[in-house]
Amino acid sequence: MKATIVGAGGLGGPLALALGAAGVELVIVDPDVVETTNLHRQLQFTAADLGAAKATTLATRVTERGGRAKGYQLRWLAEDADDISGDCELIVDGSDDPTTKFAVADWAVARGLPYVIAAALQFGGNVLVGVPATACYRCLFEEPVAAATCAAAGVLGPIVGAIGGVAAAFALAIAGAPSANADGLGTLYVFDDLRVSTEPRIVRFSRRADCSACAQRPKEMVA
Ligand SMILES: [Zn+2]
Repeated sequence: MKATIVGAGGLGGPLALALGAAGVELVIVDPDVVETTNLHRQLQFTAADLGAAKATTLATRVTERGGRAKGYQLRWLAEDADDISGDCELIVDGSDDPTTKFAVADWAVARGLPYVIAAALQFGGNVLVGVPATACYRCLFEEPVAAATCAAAGVLGPIVGAIGGVAAAFALAIAGAPSANADGLGTLYVFDDLRVSTEPRIVRFSRRADCSACAQRPKEMVA
């Protein structure tokens, strides 16, 4: 399978290393370079990587472990996606930007592709697992709102590893790994505060008939 990972930071790191090690060929997209303030939570980077592009450096880490990955130092945009990752069968968002998350989900829904959207902030996070024929990201969240970012509000270092690991496990479930649990597809998992509980709140939700992303999908994809 071939997958795109959007974001090469705290979530993208564990996602890429896990999926790459499982044999998934990766396209990794991130516009940023490694900064000192990233190192406590982006464990794929070291001080020797400061100033280097995150996407290509993470791709190198994947290939050093025997995986296949290509990095692009770009902000992911739907209009470029067909060129750099049009043949991907799965897209996973680990970006720190609500607008990008919606764009990734909408792009996947429009193409009938499965997708995983992961977010982490402060002491918790959430993971949405989207597959064709289920309610989509926009059915639930409707549109981006001004939200705190990790860069502004902070995140406890280990939290991104935990959320990234959960997202990677679901991505592997989508990829059809025999050990994966497919029960969670089409569901939002919310981890309110991992210092208090590792038990997620499981949010099941329905399609909105007027959803701008999925209401116009071809009939064969609609449940
Ligand atoms: Zn929808």
